[in-house]
Amino acid sequence: MRFDVPTAEARGLVEEAGPLLDGPVAEVIQEHKRDSSGEPSLEPDGSLAGHVRRLKRRVHRLGAEAGLYAPHVSEALGGRGSSLRACMYLHEEVFLRGFGGQQWMLSWTDGPSPMVEVATERAVQEFVDPLMRAEITTAFAQTEPEAGSDATSMSTVAGRSGGDWTLTGHKHLITNAPFAEIVQVVARTDEGKFGVFLVPEDAPGFSRGPIQQTIMDDGQTASLTFEDCRIPLDMMLGEPQEKFGVPMRWINWTKARRAGMCVGLARYCLDKALEYAKEREAFGRPIGSFEQVALQISEAYRRTWATRAACDRLLEEIDVSDPWEKPDAGTRANFAAVKLMAEECLLEAADVSVQVFGGLGLLKSTGLEHVYRVARNLRIPGGTAEIQRREIARSLGLLKG
Ligand SMILES: Cc1cc2nc3c(=O)[nH]c(=O)nc-3n(C[C@H](O)[C@H](O)[C@H](O)COP(=O)(O)OP(=O)(O)OC[C@H]3O[C@@H](n4cnc5c(N)ncnc54)[C@H](O)[C@@H]3O)c2cc1C
Repeated sequence: MRFDVPTAEARGLVEEAGPLLDGPVAEVIQEHKRDSSGEPSLEPDGSLAGHVRRLKRRVHRLGAEAGLYAPHVSEALGGRGSSLRACMYLHEEVFLRGFGGQQWMLSWTDGPSPMVEVATERAVQEFVDPLMRAEITTAFAQTEPEAGSDATSMSTVAGRSGGDWTLTGHKHLITNAPFAEIVQVVARTDEGKFGVFLVPEDAPGFSRGPIQQTIMDDGQTASLTFEDCRIPLDMMLGEPQEKFGVPMRWINWTKARRAGMCVGLARYCLDKALEYAKEREAFGRPIGSFEQVALQISEAYRRTWATRAACDRLLEEIDVSDPWEKPDAGTRANFAAVKLMAEECLLEAADVSVQVFGGLGLLKSTGLEHVYRVARNLRIPGGTAEIQRREIARSLGLLKG
């Protein structure tokens, strides 16, 4: 199967990324491996170890210096204004290398999303600029213990008092909550509108909860509490709106990013499975000569190829719509379809690769079980698989209300 990169814009990003990933980024990772060998990757409290966080920051910075950390951000804010379609191929290129550390070259939930395009002047200076340079990280705090899929029922409130906002509420399951220097908090104003408020870690009334260890065992998820937490009125991304407009920019960007990530990781898993199926022998033959093994691999490749082609087309359509300001029902369904297809494709590929490797597939050292756990995780954050199906059904005029 051919996995060509179809546009000049995408090829440009991929051709810049390859040498950076295999050169300076790989060197920094090798150096870290040498210097930290034997050190645990988690602190005693379950949080990601300091040495891994330092590596992550160094890789972020290499990406930022090369303009590849957040190329989706507009040129006015220091990005390249790259299309989602081109970003898909950049992400694929990065994730073809698995989870060795190269993935940190790209901004993720801890970096800039399309919400930064509506930052106030103050927020650009104090938040977006250092975020684009990867000097700080952020977190997106929307989910609450009583409000997940049904996010608009959230109870975190932001009231005006004098020249400040005062935030009160509790968020949980927030990625990078233990480390973010400035958190993007979704809250309801006293007028019943939804806004995204920027809360620096030293704001009075801000506190972090203990680690909520997930299936990924990565020490990066925790709760956050805001108790009469005061921030200046203009530390915001956009104006409060009756609709969930600004947070949806983050959520839809998260869905779009799944395309390149999942296809890249699926190919990483299947390439490994294919190689192993050709060399591993059982009953005096390579295991790939058994039809059950061969067909699992070929089916998963077929699905990966089809998912890649479909995501390319959907992202191309999204790029020519108005995806951030007022996405229509068709655009929202396209984002949902990208997320669903990409995650399902990766889950199958990761499962097949673990199966083909037999017992070795379940060893931590093989790396495939890690991808499998991430793949399983992906179907919940950023909107569950059920919520994506509901979005598609709604675009078809079903499930009204
Ligand atoms: C590792 C990880 C990282 C995360 N990172 C972040 C983050 O950075 N920021 C953040 O804000 N949140 C984050 N989350 C939270 C995540 O977005 C929520 O867990 C998710 O939106 C689901 O919400 P919930 O857990 O409350 O489940 P619920 O909303 O309670 O859903 C439970 C089940 O009911 C189903 N369901 C609910 N409503 C419907 C419906 N209308 N139709 C059909 N089925 C339905 C769901 O699909 C699900 O299967 C993270 C979660 C995890 C696990």
